[in-house]
Amino acid sequence: GAMRQKMEFQAEVQQLLHLVVHSLYSNKEIFLRELVSNASDACDKLRFEAAQHPELFEGDGELKIWIDYDRDARTVTIRDNGIGMSREEAVAHLGTIAKSGTREFLQRLGAEGQADARLIGQFGVGFYSAFIVADRVTVRSRRAGLPASAGVLWECAMTGDAAGTFEVTEIERPERGTEVVLHLREGEDEFLSGVRLRELIRKYSDHILWPILMRKERWDEGRGELVKEEEWEQVNRASALWARPKQEIAEEEYVEFYKHVAHDFEAPLSWVHAKVEGRHEYTMLLYLPQRAPFDLFERTPRHGLKLYVRRVFVLEDAERLLPRYLRFVRGVVDAADLPLNVSREMLQDSREIEAIRAGVTKRVLGLLEQLAKNEPEKYARFWREFGRVLKEGIIEDPANRERIAALLRFASTHSDSPEETVSLDDYLGRMKPGQERIYYLTAESFAAARHSPHLEAFRKKGVEVLLLTDRIDEWWVAYLPEYKGKPLASVAKGEMDAALLSEEEKKAREEADERLKPLLERLQAALGERVKAVRVSSRLTEAPACLVVEEHEPGMQLARLLRELGQ
Ligand code: ADP
Ligand code: MG
Repeated sequence: GAMRQKMEFQAEVQQLLHLVVHSLYSNKEIFLRELVSNASDACDKLRFEAAQHPELFEGDGELKIWIDYDRDARTVTIRDNGIGMSREEAVAHLGTIAKSGTREFLQRLGAEGQADARLIGQFGVGFYSAFIVADRVTVRSRRAGLPASAGVLWECAMTGDAAGTFEVTEIERPERGTEVVLHLREGEDEFLSGVRLRELIRKYSDHILWPILMRKERWDEGRGELVKEEEWEQVNRASALWARPKQEIAEEEYVEFYKHVAHDFEAPLSWVHAKVEGRHEYTMLLYLPQRAPFDLFERTPRHGLKLYVRRVFVLEDAERLLPRYLRFVRGVVDAADLPLNVSREMLQDSREIEAIRAGVTKRVLGLLEQLAKNEPEKYARFWREFGRVLKEGIIEDPANRERIAALLRFASTHSDSPEETVSLDDYLGRMKPGQERIYYLTAESFAAARHSPHLEAFRKKGVEVLLLTDRIDEWWVAYLPEYKGKPLASVAKGEMDAALLSEEEKKAREEADERLKPLLERLQAALGERVKAVRVSSRLTEAPACLVVEEHEPGMQLARLLRELGQ
């Protein structure tokens, strides 16, 4: 007999289900977008795997998505003949959340009380959005390549507002792919309508590349209502959005397409759509999200760029197409000259891919420059969300170092606020006569930076100092020795430019050196090995002494970091 098994949802899933149902109700219609998006991903995956293993098509290579409803049973069904799921996959994908950092993320959501829909969206609600409109969801699936006897039935009924368990049963299922049946909650009958479902498909899923089919309907004069026919018809346009001319694409189409490729709930911050011709031909549609995903700093960030070859999906998460420091970019690249059966390994040393990667990088930097110049508020938002990642580019991408440097934003003694708004060009424009270097200070926090004794002399002379308080700051400054010909210099290392000192100050410094020599010798003897040298300083006005690092030594933050890493 069929093996039936009751299983518990992972605690995080239960919490997520609860949040989804409660905070997304005002957006309930998105369930269809999410389920169609999954069906489309499943077709993409099958097409990709079948490129190497054509037998997976089982003689049926026409991938499609079908949507139907049943007024009497009060169900809406979304079906695809994509990759499908094995029993293990159904349990893993529909019962747990594998993404690292999930627990922390949900704790943070919990702490904010009534969770913000946008925050949940950032996590990607996906499949669970079915429960916004359904109180029972039945999934039947079979993975491509497995025998009909390896079908799986997955079912979850919500009792009250969150159910803790689901059931899986082995079933016979000749059809490959997945069918999701939504048993609608009381009061959700609006979705039992061909007109309403078509409207939602056109609104949210028009760009899906696989045909989405619904049953034809005709007006029955006698019954005075629309009746369904046996025959299916295609509802979506199913043309590659990026392949269409820009001027014909509406803003909402760009936005909906983004939500699908990025698995995001919110609209993007901005995008660039470009076709490159010449030796390497490719089209790119690249988006900047509005919000950093919660796993931006995990080792394996998800959902980068999708790679298509002549409008056929080839690869998800094609990390070779983007440098790591641009890992927040989402979208698609469609390459004209790659073979359709290209694999991840082949991308490793493909010249085509190298060219595309350089082109994509250039466009993203261009988009950021344009935002910084023309839409400073959007750029400020971008900087808050992704600035820390962009800084990695100074280290990672020497070829674009100066361009990236121009995009950095800092807190400084000029604004005296923790807001990072000052660019290096702003700084250059405010340099004092005779000032040769760009001064910065690294510290653990803005408060610590601001009260640093190292700043006193600079403040007094009105010389601006950039205040760097990210952990990564000491790393990248080591890779940016100068900007537009002006060296960067830490105020905690070495001395102030001589040109900034008056003649009197210089003289006073020399005299003090002479006069204090015996004191310095005694201090040096007392401190012994613990210091390299004891010197007279011109940079203090109030504090009696401060610790200084030699010009070419690692800064104190970095030294601490290296110690923590056991170096
Ligand atoms: P995401 O799409 O962001 O991965 P979802 O919650 O939408 O998250 O889906 C979770 C997982 O369930 C998918 O990654 C996929 O592995 C599996 N899944 C969902 N729907 C289908 C489907 N129609 N066919 C095959 N697998 C599916
Ligand atoms: Mg999904």
